Amino acid sequence: MKMHKTLEITLLVLLGCMLAVLFWACVPGRKTVPVVTVSILPQKWLVEELMGQNRVRVQVMVPAGSGPESYDPTPRDLMSLSRSDVYFSVGDLGFERAWIPRFREQNGTLPVVEMGEYISKMSDDDGNEADPHLWTTPLNMKSMASVTAAALVRFFPEDKDSITARLSALDEKLDAMHRNFSRLAVMAPSKTFVIYHPALSYLARDYGMTQLSVEQDHKEPSVSQLQALVEATKKSDAKVLLIQQELDVRLVESFAQETQLRVVRINVLSPDWETEMKRIMLELTR
Ligand SMILES: [Zn+2]
Repeated sequence: MKMHKTLEITLLVLLGCMLAVLFWACVPGRKTVPVVTVSILPQKWLVEELMGQNRVRVQVMVPAGSGPESYDPTPRDLMSLSRSDVYFSVGDLGFERAWIPRFREQNGTLPVVEMGEYISKMSDDDGNEADPHLWTTPLNMKSMASVTAAALVRFFPEDKDSITARLSALDEKLDAMHRNFSRLAVMAPSKTFVIYHPALSYLARDYGMTQLSVEQDHKEPSVSQLQALVEATKKSDAKVLLIQQELDVRLVESFAQETQLRVVRINVLSPDWETEMKRIMLELTR
């Protein structure tokens, strides 16, 4: 009998807790921090540069370690998207092409802002498809910053003064990065680099460098393509092979040995865009 009583009380307490949790979660207006959703981590860096760390919560669709070319959002991602005030896309990522129309279908009122809208897109070597990695150079980041700041002012007009001030500080920082990168490029012993996944077309363009890609048409190269790349690399002054950090390095080990390139791991999806871009540029120009 006593056992029963204890069990009953425990159950009642449990039920009470559950109700409290349910009630708390359902109280309207509890959402005090606005939510901004972006596709990739460097965009989170940009939004936080403009808004500060705590004014908005920035959700990132493509998690660290996944590729934005082919990521499929989980049901949980889609749920959290419905609580979002605005979505910032980069513009032409494979993931965005596949999913943004569906986001719009499911959340008719969700505003979508394209950060890369005003960047003139570079086509790849075959001249048919634009390089989607718009964020990998300070000059493009400047354009993305002004689009993003204008949109943030529209959605959070009470923050206008602070966003404007932060934008001009960010512009100065990006200009300084650009000047520094230009100086490094001029003094660099080599103007050619090899990269597994060709994510640095815009950086190469802005600093007069040549990017040689191991991947051909987004696929692993054939044996003959790889042989041609070995020849091209040996004829060039390339000294470094960049490889995205989550890729299997064995793929390129023999290539690096044959061409005597230094292998450097990079992360173009780093949450600390500024530090990683500076490190990449130093590796390219040392
Ligand atoms: Zn990519």
